[in-house]
Amino acid sequence: MSETIERYAATLYGLAAEDRAGLIRTADALLADKALWASLRSGAVSPAEKAELLRTAPELAGSEVLRGVLGLLAQEGQLADFPAVLEEVRRLDLIARGGAPCTVTCAREPDEAMKEDLRKAVCRLRGLDQAAMSFRVDPELLGGFVVEVQGVTYDYSVKGRLDRLARGLEDAPEGDGLEGLIQNMRDAIQGFQAGEDRSETGRVQEVGDGIATVSGLDRAVYGELVELDTGAKGMVMDLSRESVGVVLLGSENGVREGTLVRRTGRPADVPVGDGLIGRVVDVLGQPIDGLGPIHTTETRPIEHEASGVVTREPVTVPLQTGILAIDAMVPIGRGQRELIIGDRQTGKTAIAVDAILNQKGQDVICIYVAIGQKASTVARIQDTLKRYGAMDYSIIVSATASDSAPLQYIAPYAGAAMGEYFMSKGKDVLIVYDDLSKHAVAYRTLSLLLKRSPGREAYPGDVFYLHSRLLERACRLTEEHGGGSMTALPIIETQAGDVSAYIPTNVISITDGQIYLETDLFFAGQRPAVNVGLSVSRVGGAAQTRAIKKTAGTLRIDLARFRELEVFTQFASDLDAATQQTLGHGRRLLELLKQPLYRPMPVSRQAVILYVATSGLVDDVPLEKVRDFVLDFAKEMEDAHGDVMEEIQSTGNLSGPAVETIRTVLEDAKKRVSATWQA
Ligand code: ATP
Ligand code: MG
Repeated sequence: MSETIERYAATLYGLAAEDRAGLIRTADALLADKALWASLRSGAVSPAEKAELLRTAPELAGSEVLRGVLGLLAQEGQLADFPAVLEEVRRLDLIARGGAPCTVTCAREPDEAMKEDLRKAVCRLRGLDQAAMSFRVDPELLGGFVVEVQGVTYDYSVKGRLDRLARGLEDAPEGDGLEGLIQNMRDAIQGFQAGEDRSETGRVQEVGDGIATVSGLDRAVYGELVELDTGAKGMVMDLSRESVGVVLLGSENGVREGTLVRRTGRPADVPVGDGLIGRVVDVLGQPIDGLGPIHTTETRPIEHEASGVVTREPVTVPLQTGILAIDAMVPIGRGQRELIIGDRQTGKTAIAVDAILNQKGQDVICIYVAIGQKASTVARIQDTLKRYGAMDYSIIVSATASDSAPLQYIAPYAGAAMGEYFMSKGKDVLIVYDDLSKHAVAYRTLSLLLKRSPGREAYPGDVFYLHSRLLERACRLTEEHGGGSMTALPIIETQAGDVSAYIPTNVISITDGQIYLETDLFFAGQRPAVNVGLSVSRVGGAAQTRAIKKTAGTLRIDLARFRELEVFTQFASDLDAATQQTLGHGRRLLELLKQPLYRPMPVSRQAVILYVATSGLVDDVPLEKVRDFVLDFAKEMEDAHGDVMEEIQSTGNLSGPAVETIRTVLEDAKKRVSATWQA
């Protein structure tokens, strides 16, 4: 139907608001007067005569509106379109009276009998009293027709049949031969005849910036996966009366106004399974490491409700990061959520990577989710993990800075879904979200494009919920529920150390503590640059290994006292012995907390170092020699007293005899090397 006809019909319909039934009756009577209609249409009759005919026609008496419209059509030479206009007016009238609008696209122009048959069929199919039919012609259908009514599409076209057949054939198991093919085809045709094949479809109204507005998906639900005709997938993120907002999870290429969108009836999901281990995947679980396809049999929804209260257990099992400063002062337990927060380039990622490296042989599956990172950073991390053999138990989920906002938004949820799979199988999982600041920015972009109202810092109102529902998914399950755990290490980047900005405060409030990294410390050479005063672990203490808990007991207080004194005595020249002693002790502690990249320490080594440091046994070693000395000493312990170290490692405790050995070995070492200190 042309736009002109639609416009004429709408005008006529509007003008005849008083008595539409009368208008339709008059128009029918006019068309029934064959002689009059023929003269009106005839080319032999002059325009003036036509006008006279219209003026005097008995049928039109009392219907000025119709006379006016017919006169206009006559002047424009479009009287032939009048029956179509009338048809459309009828349709509009029917919709106004509660009839369901129904669009039928046919391969050929349908005749009246067929139209009537279709109308009856649609009414029967949908249990309707009346249907307002409109017909279109699309030769591309090849044959048959497509009916769209109440958001449901019934595809009885040859093209649709062929498409389905093609799809069915693709799904056919290989090696089935001709028999399989024929069976497939028979199934497809039978299924089609049974009228089972219906799908709910809509059409794209507008598209841009990774968001498509789609009309016609009346029953789509929030979070549902939809498929576009271009092959791209999308997720329903916004529901409104007239349309739904769909975020595109693939390329926007080829998507245009009118592109068909099909509901899938299932939530957006990712493939999960053991096949993912050792791989780098995009947020839809597709490999991007060039190592071939990934074989998985299961999928899990991206958005999933977090485990409930009764299925959870308190955090009691340690998750060693291998970083002395962290394991000693901000211990992390399995199932905990510990935030890593700091300015840019303060070693946030390095801590997470070290923690992953340290899980070697611990039966923990690690997932690193890169959100808005540079592709080169992700490649470097993959390289590091591979080099230290950590890729064997790790998955990298990557949505780099060049990926669209929807992909970056989904990344952590996809990672969490993969982690939950392993957790449900009773495994322990460590998941790193690097970083959630960029995730919040992606969500802000998305929300603004979906025209949601911005709030503080232009973030939408539910940005808090965004991160809480993600981090709540980390937990430790009770034995009845499999006993698995998921430990989350979200990362947040601050601007100039401002932890009171919107996103940092949000995430701080929903995690079980934070590791605060400071630029000043980083540049002063204190790496990892953990600020001891501001870092805390609210639940990990219960999960700390006893040996470390015992030896690190006074560490925090000693360091706090040292910091205070240091500031206080900054310009003092003449210090008493006690003060000097405290300062010296503090400086040595800090020195021993320094740790280079990718050198995670086992528990036994940590315990030994902490023991000699906190009990002041190395306070007489010169400051610049203390690190090397203690590391050499730890090495000696490992080489010469492997049994003692083994015992500490396996029992997680520092027994009396072990302490004896440590003290003796240390005294011997001191005696041996102290001569060189004076020099
Ligand atoms: P960004 O804000 O760019 O994500 P980031 O906070 O994640 O940075 P990293 O990339 O982990 O920081 O580290 C920054 C730099 O500091 C890197 O070059 C890394 O090699 C170095 N670095 C981090 N930790 C240590 C450490 N313990 N010892 C020595 N160098 C370190
Ligand atoms: Mg980083």
